[in-house]
Amino acid sequence: MTWDKRQPFTRASFCEHVYDLARKVTRTYTVDIHGRHRYASQWWLNGEVRVFWEPSIPRQTVDLIVNAVDRRVRETVGLEFTFQLYGNDTSSAEQVSEALVRGQLDPDKLFSLAALEPWRDQARGGRQHADIYITDKQFVGDAGSWAAASFKYGAMMFCLHGLRHHSSDFLRKVALHETNHLLGMYCHCDDYQNVAGLPYTPACNMHYSCSHADLCPKCRTHIECWWQGVQDEAREAGLLRA
Ligand SMILES: [Zn+2]
Ligand SMILES: [Zn+2]
Repeated sequence: MTWDKRQPFTRASFCEHVYDLARKVTRTYTVDIHGRHRYASQWWLNGEVRVFWEPSIPRQTVDLIVNAVDRRVRETVGLEFTFQLYGNDTSSAEQVSEALVRGQLDPDKLFSLAALEPWRDQARGGRQHADIYITDKQFVGDAGSWAAASFKYGAMMFCLHGLRHHSSDFLRKVALHETNHLLGMYCHCDDYQNVAGLPYTPACNMHYSCSHADLCPKCRTHIECWWQGVQDEAREAGLLRA
């Protein structure tokens, strides 16, 4: 998605813009891989998140990430997600190895596998949920990247190779940042710089550098308005109680 960064918004028109986008994408999102299966992910309906990690990842690193995701979900959309800690499950290990490109982890491949897995498909006895993968792999083609996340696919992955798990303060900011993406923030703070009453600031968690933990009021508003759209769309489709 692209737009003019200088395009002026009022607070209300910004919220309406994000709200409309959320309704449109949750109505039209489908995942279609090689024509195998067409499947609209609605992981957000159950608020369940399954967490997988490789044997090399310390448990305290897992807890740090889960706590950060939980905190950001509560403080932005006011929901309590349920976290199921699976650890090094065979199914996730297979998905991670299938998503490797020359030994490096490809988020597009991994997220597609997650969205299409039978464990999410009600028709095959599954249940809608999101997945978090915590690995010691390198991000494909990008040794500097730490993580990725997607609302559409309901997935988040971490690339904690070498001694990265020791950088707990930075890792917490990365996990908060990725949670914003998981919750539907499809851009970074820079992408909207002209919203009246919600001043642009470099001191926001939604900059690529992840050097701050807190969300600026504009990005918090962005996620709140997105989530209103997601919930209204689901409610009108009869997927949520009124
Ligand atoms: Zn921001
Ligand atoms: Zn980002």
